[in-house]
Amino acid sequence: MPVVDRQEWDVVVVGAGGAGLRAAIEARERGARTAVICKSLFGKAHTVMAEGGIAAAMGNVNAGDNWQVHFRDTLRGGKFLNQWRMAELHAQEAPQRVWELETWGALFDRTKDGRISQRNFGGHEYPRLAHVGDRTGLELIRTLQQRIVALQQEDFRETGDYESRLKVFQECTVTRVLKDGERVSGVFGYERESGRFFVLEAPAVVIATGGIGKSFKVTSNSWEYTGDGHALALLAGAPLLNMEFVQFHPTGMVWPPSVKGILVTESVRGDGGVLRNAEGKRFMFDYIPDVFKDKYAESEDEGDRWYDDPDHNRRPPELLPRDEVARAINAEVKAGRGSPHGGVFLDVSTRMPAEVIKRRLPSMYHQFKELADVDITAEAMEVGPTCHYVMGGIAVDSDSAAARGVPGLFAAGEVAGGMHGSNRLGGNSLSDLLVFGRRAGLHAAEYAGGAGAARPRVDDVQVDAAAAEALRPFSAEGEAPGDGPPENPYTLHQELQQTMNDLVGIIRREHEMERALEKLAELRARARRAGVEGHRQFNPGWHLALDLRNMLLVSECVARAALERTESRGGHTREDHAAMDRAWRNVNLLCTLAGPADGDPVRGRIALTRETTEPIRPDLLALFEKEELVKYLAEEELYE
Ligand code: FAD
Repeated sequence: MPVVDRQEWDVVVVGAGGAGLRAAIEARERGARTAVICKSLFGKAHTVMAEGGIAAAMGNVNAGDNWQVHFRDTLRGGKFLNQWRMAELHAQEAPQRVWELETWGALFDRTKDGRISQRNFGGHEYPRLAHVGDRTGLELIRTLQQRIVALQQEDFRETGDYESRLKVFQECTVTRVLKDGERVSGVFGYERESGRFFVLEAPAVVIATGGIGKSFKVTSNSWEYTGDGHALALLAGAPLLNMEFVQFHPTGMVWPPSVKGILVTESVRGDGGVLRNAEGKRFMFDYIPDVFKDKYAESEDEGDRWYDDPDHNRRPPELLPRDEVARAINAEVKAGRGSPHGGVFLDVSTRMPAEVIKRRLPSMYHQFKELADVDITAEAMEVGPTCHYVMGGIAVDSDSAAARGVPGLFAAGEVAGGMHGSNRLGGNSLSDLLVFGRRAGLHAAEYAGGAGAARPRVDDVQVDAAAAEALRPFSAEGEAPGDGPPENPYTLHQELQQTMNDLVGIIRREHEMERALEKLAELRARARRAGVEGHRQFNPGWHLALDLRNMLLVSECVARAALERTESRGGHTREDHAAMDRAWRNVNLLCTLAGPADGDPVRGRIALTRETTEPIRPDLLALFEKEELVKYLAEEELYE
């Protein structure tokens, strides 16, 4: 077997986005020796791409805001399927996390009286998103990185070694969580540049690897989003929760083809941008669902007045939650009222002076100018839905972020499920990363110093198996004679993306999802023969061959759960079950790995179970009007 470097740490954090870095800072501050691993360069996580802002009920722009209103908005956005305790903690703690960032050096945009400015976003009742132009994620990561460097300097002064208590392993990919019996014992991975294998032994592992978008053809997500953390947890024995809920952001670029899917931030609509179809109509007024009818403007005039006088007018329907807007755009295009390249028009040019657009939306101005040769201060953008975010994820305990069923495993950020229910509100991810990143780091450190203090033993058999699995693409061959020649990982990836896009996309149908599962089974068999040439030094084909395992597992979870849930809710729309069904309100779908014996050879490796959600605490339910609850809750829940 190849040489495997080994090191010992207390807490290993897999992922260096907002969630991973916040977890690592907390774990180190609680005294745990902490290692952070990331696939890309340090500082280049997906979080960097976040544009619009961090949602936190600070009440800086409208004093009416508070955590209860934020909690209500979050549950409405998630159509009441949110793990309510997470939504409560999130709404309560987000302001502290933003102020903390400021004390660590983050430079937010300001209001006229010098407070952190907050902007409007879909589904948020008040202006709530703290922001730095449309480059908020960059500032968030810069600040967390700076904090890590400050802690390392502190450690240097005490120990003479910058990395004695907090070390970042960049351009390294984790392929397995290792276990000692039931509990975690560390991780196995490889360095992307050299191909060398390593094991980091630790009693506590925090997974913070982000999302799954690269399983879909049109996506706003970057190359790192191959569902690694979801698959790592699944393979380690932790269940994934509600994987059918995938968010299609309503506004991605649709033209030219090379940039299709790249995000057009919701701030464009938050700051006054409007959606029009090919006939010039502001069509969103036709798509306000009953559950939101009393909260959104009835006319363009009222919607426009709301920007200056939100207390006496209702918000425009362009600011409905994302799932509603994405479905509306899809319907307009399908009805033949789309833009020339299959989207609709998003216009700020007639709504704001050019210099305001350039100041408030600098990245969007440059993005369209450079990538599409469109001047958004003079003409409308063409936009359409793009796969953006996964609400489903590792099932965790709300308070501690501990993954269910695997002692020592924790999860935070986009990879964790529950917080956003069936649909995430814009801005609620960056706050989620900070709130639950901190909680994961805290509890991982406590676990490592307590229950996990008797260090687990790393099993050499597991290490050898992980190395053999990683090396497999270099000697790709079928299980049996006649299995066929090696497969090209790029071809397999393209076929997977097309399958998910066409058959498990924004509008879903039973027979298409059945077909998707058959295709996924075929791809899984072929992926076992995914072969690469060359050697282990920086070999992107090899990396993709390994990522395929994760994307296929996660895609099967999405397809199986989507087939099972016979209703439409949030980021899951069934053409054959078009309404939201109150009987599904309190049902979670859990995916686990089926053992080789019970895994269906055609359907695949995922077993699906239903569980009833924990009843929402009465004092939280009391934050809503009864008339509203009637629209969501099942009869027996209302009775209780
Ligand atoms: P990431 O920031 O993606 O970090 C994941 C980390 O895991 C990376 O370091 C990666 O290298 C590492 N990793 C992955 N797999 C492995 C592996 N196998 N081994 C080792 N490391 C691994 N949300 C908002 O709230 N507000 C916004 O304005 C906003 N704007 C957005 C704009 C865009 C264009 C996009 C795409 C998303 C936006 N979002 C926004 C969503 C938000 O940015 C993400 O949900 C969030 O950043 C995810 O953070 P994370 O820490 O969970 O993961």
